[in-house]
Amino acid sequence: KRIDLIYTRLRTEERMILDALRKRECEVQLHQDSDLVLSLDAERWSGGNVVLMRSMSLTRSRYLAAILEVKGARVVNSSQAITTCGDKILTNLALAAHGVPMPWSFAGFEEEACVAEIERRGYPVVTKPAVGSWGRMVARIEGRSAAEGLMQMRFETGGAQDHVGLVQQYIDKPGYDLRVYVMGRAVGGIRRRSEHWVTNTARGAVPERYEVPESHAKLAERAAAAVGADIAAVDLLETREGEILVNEVNHCVEFARSIEFARIPLPELIAEYTAGVHP
Ligand code: ADP
Ligand code: ZN
Ligand code: MG
Repeated sequence: KRIDLIYTRLRTEERMILDALRKRECEVQLHQDSDLVLSLDAERWSGGNVVLMRSMSLTRSRYLAAILEVKGARVVNSSQAITTCGDKILTNLALAAHGVPMPWSFAGFEEEACVAEIERRGYPVVTKPAVGSWGRMVARIEGRSAAEGLMQMRFETGGAQDHVGLVQQYIDKPGYDLRVYVMGRAVGGIRRRSEHWVTNTARGAVPERYEVPESHAKLAERAAAAVGADIAAVDLLETREGEILVNEVNHCVEFARSIEFARIPLPELIAEYTAGVHP
């Protein structure tokens, strides 16, 4: 079976997935995203029917997936899933539309309007860029002056596409968050423990093995289905009361820092899923 793998850099993840695909006797064609120049028409592309998207760039992966779909390819994940997961406002909307529990959140489009709504809802709250990852610029707001400063920054820096305020309920987690890997079904997960409330492994959180209970697995599967993702890493937040909420869904699963702790064969599972996809 032929698989076309699009990448930005061959990181640990891409190398391991490549090995796993080749072990399954897949014929893998590699494409660096920066080399691809594709005509905007419905003519078939020179590549195969199944594309595994591993580009690190949201702009590239979203457009490439959309173009290749029109050219007849089945892209994992789909352009629709990449678009939804790549934007936390669209993710929250998809989760809400499917009744998936999540922290309350709102979007606003002007500084004073956002501050007024934060004041109305009460502190603490979290604000983060609608488009972003690795825990960058995720901020907790404890009071009015921080709200004013952060909202001023949100609306007076960046470009027009950045001028949207996303504000969420702050969830007081018990020192970790949970990540469940879904490939059609939940295949396992990790707990990310940190002294800091931002628990990205890119920010120093320590991954631990976690036996995913059935209820968490089902919730993660519902979240992945809500955003239309084939393969996803679903982040869950646990409240002190033990309630589980979905925080976000990541469409390009990274595992270099966590694979040895997770003890889940993620590259093999990704290869198996992709090889089993029908074009
Ligand atoms: P990113 O895409 O950058 O990972 P996240 O929304 O996952 O963005 O936020 C990064 C981390 O910040 C989460 O893993 C979690 O530890 C913490 N965090 C984010 N939102 C909240 C929230 N509403 N309440 C508590 N912690 C949060
Ligand atoms: Zn993310
Ligand atoms: Mg995250």
